[in-house]
Amino acid sequence: MDIEKFFNPASVAIVGASGKTGKVGYEITANMIKAGYKGEIFPVNPNSTEIQGLKCYPDLESIGRPCELVVIVVPARGVPAVMRQCAKIGTKAVVIITAGFKEVGREGAGLEKDLMQIARQAGIRVIGPNCLGVIAPSNRLNASFGGGLPAAGSIAYLSQSGALLAAILDKAAAAGIGFSKLVSIGNKADVNELEIMKYLATDPETKVIAGYLESIDHGHEFVRQATEISRTKPILLMKSGGTEAGSRAASSHTGSLAGSETTYECVFERAGIIRCESITRQFDYALAFAGQPLPKGPSVAVITNAGGPGIMTADAIERAGLAFARFSQETKDRLAVFLPAAANIHNPVDILGDALADRYRAALEVVLQEADVDSILVLLTPQAMTEAEATAAAVVDAAADGPGKPVLACFLGAGKVDKAVEILTKGSIPCYDCPESAVVTVKAMSDYIRWRSRPKRVVKLFSVNRRKVEAIIQRHLRQGMRQIGEADAKEILEAYGFVTPKGSVAATAEHAVNIAAQIGYPVVLKIWSPDIVHKSDVGGVQVGLNSDRQVRDAFDLMMYRIPKKQPDAKILGVLVQQMCTSNMEVILGMHRDRHFGPVMMFGMGGVMVEVLKDVSFYLAPLTAEEARQMLVNTRTYQMLKGVRGTEGVDIDQVAEALQRVSQLATEFPQIQELDINPYIVGPEGSTAVAVDARISVEEL
Ligand code: ADP
Ligand code: MG
Repeated sequence: MDIEKFFNPASVAIVGASGKTGKVGYEITANMIKAGYKGEIFPVNPNSTEIQGLKCYPDLESIGRPCELVVIVVPARGVPAVMRQCAKIGTKAVVIITAGFKEVGREGAGLEKDLMQIARQAGIRVIGPNCLGVIAPSNRLNASFGGGLPAAGSIAYLSQSGALLAAILDKAAAAGIGFSKLVSIGNKADVNELEIMKYLATDPETKVIAGYLESIDHGHEFVRQATEISRTKPILLMKSGGTEAGSRAASSHTGSLAGSETTYECVFERAGIIRCESITRQFDYALAFAGQPLPKGPSVAVITNAGGPGIMTADAIERAGLAFARFSQETKDRLAVFLPAAANIHNPVDILGDALADRYRAALEVVLQEADVDSILVLLTPQAMTEAEATAAAVVDAAADGPGKPVLACFLGAGKVDKAVEILTKGSIPCYDCPESAVVTVKAMSDYIRWRSRPKRVVKLFSVNRRKVEAIIQRHLRQGMRQIGEADAKEILEAYGFVTPKGSVAATAEHAVNIAAQIGYPVVLKIWSPDIVHKSDVGGVQVGLNSDRQVRDAFDLMMYRIPKKQPDAKILGVLVQQMCTSNMEVILGMHRDRHFGPVMMFGMGGVMVEVLKDVSFYLAPLTAEEARQMLVNTRTYQMLKGVRGTEGVDIDQVAEALQRVSQLATEFPQIQELDINPYIVGPEGSTAVAVDARISVEEL
């Protein structure tokens, strides 16, 4: 069945309709009637013959006609029986408002399962239960208890919280904001966020898809489809609650550094979804995306009647990482023609405190034509001579006649500009009460357009030795081993094209000296035990050993001290390893999210990773561009590139290493976590080495 039926049914039955104020069944019936719904409304309640002036039926069957949409408000226990009736009369769309299902515990979950069984058998699609309902303003359909019918507009809203939707409706009504569709998805027993989003993507009334989600179903499918939708319509989401990183995600650096929010940030970034931190921000963004064209680039111009706010805006533009438009001589000349001598004809254009509406209009017309301007902020402070309302009208006109560049307003103050704000809102010009909000909105628009115009994602596949890795993983799983020790982990990495340091394990000091002689000095000694996760923590790493004597001493010291520190650890010997010249230590990591799959991590490595916390994340599989971006996203990227005469490291080699790990994680879903720390990298042309590695696996 088509989701459309929920928003545009020919007839609606309300089971549990009521004539008593204060009851949900009353509110919904009243809202349906008040909205002026054009189809038929059938209240159903065995205890009444008439409700709010409409004939009331004892049950669905006695209506004697098909009902395209049934809204259920009866207590939870009664819902399965109503579902059976729906099946009988052939209804295909049901909204269950009633709460008391999965959200209240085991018994409720059982009830929800029962009713879904009936629904599936009869081919009925269900929104809810435990929801506020659905609203389609242009169809005058208000099957909700969320208040009056909002104005029609081009913003769609889907919410996993009914209460939040009620708040949004209230806020929107006060601000005169219109919607295309509103839907409360509640427990998502059947129809989920993705299906609604897919429907909204094809809905001609909807320009912007906004929503609030607590959980996201079907991770991979969500990413795939949302990416597709974002190409044509912006998705603005508020998300609360992180994913469960999983109890196993603790032994690795990556696991401990990846907060529960990290995955969602990666998902949104990949899918082009614009994340909103608050309802206010979401409205800020939604109004601009719905009302204004998208900017072609990040370059902003400001027109103001006051110097202070102009400078504040300029600062905010710089902080946001947007560009400040540079005017051509022609633009400056054209501005100079009508602006007083004291005005500033450069960006930000200060048209002075005595500016009337016509000066605003003329300035806006000129700036709109400037080639270097991608978007424009019009600032107004209500001074003695200011014509706030006439200026608002002038801005609306000039923007509409302009070359399709976004114009956003920031009219400061309250009472004096209220009417003006109304005029702007009606004219689709979003108006903000502080420059900061306007600027971050432009930033969101420019980020979105950049995401949309990025090149097609191409994930490079390296030729690797999969079979070898498969064998190692299978051997561990057969033996019930979850952790892959350093030696096997390195074999896995070598199979995927990594270089690891030379070395082998010694059981005696003499043996250690022999190995060192083969490798050549300097060498590193490391305690070799399956029970010691972080070797440095127990004094189990000695670097820079330059002679037989030093090797012997280091060996004896480790064998003497470590069993004291960790008596239960099984010590197999000491690894004698080639010492790598360290230009920089980075960490390459990955952990697997239960819903969204492997999440990659890059950062400054070594023993201080958890202290520095300078890491970035990205959803696998990575493209070359994304791998590079992961490096750019760290604070210490400058150091990687080389600062103040110090030589930088081979950035391309690191980016390629990340792609190789990403391929490994993608090809082996058994791998839960992986850390290469440190990955020692040198200048261009040198060979980077995976010095320490840890991998954990799990049976699928
Ligand atoms: P762990 O992480 O278990 O403490 P590592 O093998 O990562 O042990 O070693 C800790 C630190 O010692 C590394 O971050 C690095 O600074 C240094 N180190 C270890 N092995 C080498 C090596 N082969 N060459 C150069 N430095 C090394
Ligand atoms: Mg390490």
